Amino acid sequence: MSHLWINGQNCNATDGALYDIHSPANGRVIGQAAAASVADIEKAIASAEAAFVIWSNKTAYERETIMRGATAQVRTQAEEIGRLMALEQGKPWSQATGEVHGACDMIDYYASEAPRIEGTLPPTEKSSFRSWVTHHPVGVCAGITPWNYPAAMGTRKIAPALAFGNAVIWKPANLTPASAVELTKIIAKQDIPPGLFNLVMGSGGSIGQALVESPGVDAISFTGSVPVGKGIAASAIGNLTKLQMEMGSKNALAVMEDADLDLAVTVALGGAFGGSGQKCTASSRLVVHADVNDEFTGRLVAGAKAMKVGHALAEGTQIGPVVSAGQLQANLDNIALGASEGATLLCGGERVDQPTEGYYMSPAVFADTTNDMQINREELFAPATSVIKVSGYEEALSVVNDTNFGLTSGIVTRDLARATHFRQNARTGCVMVNLPTAGTDYHVPFGGRGDSSYGPREQGSYAAEFYTTVKTAYVAAGSPK
Ligand code: NDP
Repeated sequence: MSHLWINGQNCNATDGALYDIHSPANGRVIGQAAAASVADIEKAIASAEAAFVIWSNKTAYERETIMRGATAQVRTQAEEIGRLMALEQGKPWSQATGEVHGACDMIDYYASEAPRIEGTLPPTEKSSFRSWVTHHPVGVCAGITPWNYPAAMGTRKIAPALAFGNAVIWKPANLTPASAVELTKIIAKQDIPPGLFNLVMGSGGSIGQALVESPGVDAISFTGSVPVGKGIAASAIGNLTKLQMEMGSKNALAVMEDADLDLAVTVALGGAFGGSGQKCTASSRLVVHADVNDEFTGRLVAGAKAMKVGHALAEGTQIGPVVSAGQLQANLDNIALGASEGATLLCGGERVDQPTEGYYMSPAVFADTTNDMQINREELFAPATSVIKVSGYEEALSVVNDTNFGLTSGIVTRDLARATHFRQNARTGCVMVNLPTAGTDYHVPFGGRGDSSYGPREQGSYAAEFYTTVKTAYVAAGSPK
């Protein structure tokens, strides 16, 4: 049973509401979670407001020490939390455990950042006064996260928020509450004021909406789909709430005629099918030079067919089940859509039978696609990718940039000048050279352009822009210090 965590306490929803947690590996109910009501959200906000006053007055060293205590404990339970995540989300256990360790790295990184926040003492126009520019916490921060990286997406918001002195209300995706609850139990039991860290599960459309409409929330960091993000932005603007949003994408990997094809195939397989393709950074468009198109595509298909689809806990699984029955159906519908648009399905795109009756799908490769097809315009969030054949580098770059999104892009080439040109001219927030489009370090900024992102960047020292507010003080010379 997964409980809410409000005002320092593990609790049921006020009205006692529960919902079932299903495993994508077999479709069965594997637990229940409390479904918060709007009254619970109000309690969480009130307790966070009170706790903020205490936490924001702690020294940065105190916050750092407390955060490090949390990670030390999470690491000892990484396998156990990873197992829960694998069961509720479907990703292979080893990857889920790796994600939990990555979440710890993120918290440790921001623990170190807490005392690094600095102000400035700029020169002044007149000698009769001095001025100081200092950073201050924002207040109550809501973190709203998706199901694909339950631990990573949560800690990407929780860690900088706490480090810079804010209170947190975490609303994880309804599909993946259990791993969030385990992380919360550890974080919320540290020596922090009650209400500093709250966890509320429940329907995004109901309690998530109540959270984003509340004037008690000072900042909202959202990761999820574009339509939900746009709705949240429209709701939050009524209170002029600070916003940070990371959303979907339609990332392209360009494979040039001079590419090392072994590398290109490895990079494309990892980028397209890692995480069952359920990544905002997935390589869902492969823009391939005509000279190597046939060879690259042939090797890609062979690689995709060799990937092992299976249960998240089974040894050797590379592609786990997709997250839900609804996601599987949407994926199969998109495969049919591609065929109806004239794309050739070279492999995969089918439901796979496994010993347990879960939501398994074979990795799909489409050929003969053009960039204006719907399958190449909209995010599929599936183990599926499209090959788009181009005649040269200029055309490749133009196809890569022809999208409403702009999170990541990549190129595989041996030509330094071309790689440099691509790095400078790809209209995405992240650019990869001879690497998969997926993958990110926690100490550098992460985010995109267009429909992919809105507001200040996440990660690295850039996160301070969102989780702090700047104050400029003018003080007359000779005033008491
Ligand atoms: P959704 O947009 O459906 O949901 C994201 C979160 O928002 C969930 O917690 C959801 O709750 C909540 N939510 C839904 N409606 C509202 C609302 N009206 N008010 C407040 N909260 C709401 O995304 P998914 O969970 O399906 O995740 C997949 C998406 O996330 C993809 O588009 C993917 O690209 C994107 N993503 C982007 C990343 C990035 O960094 N750019 C990283 C990872 C994923 P509930 O679960 O209850 O519906």
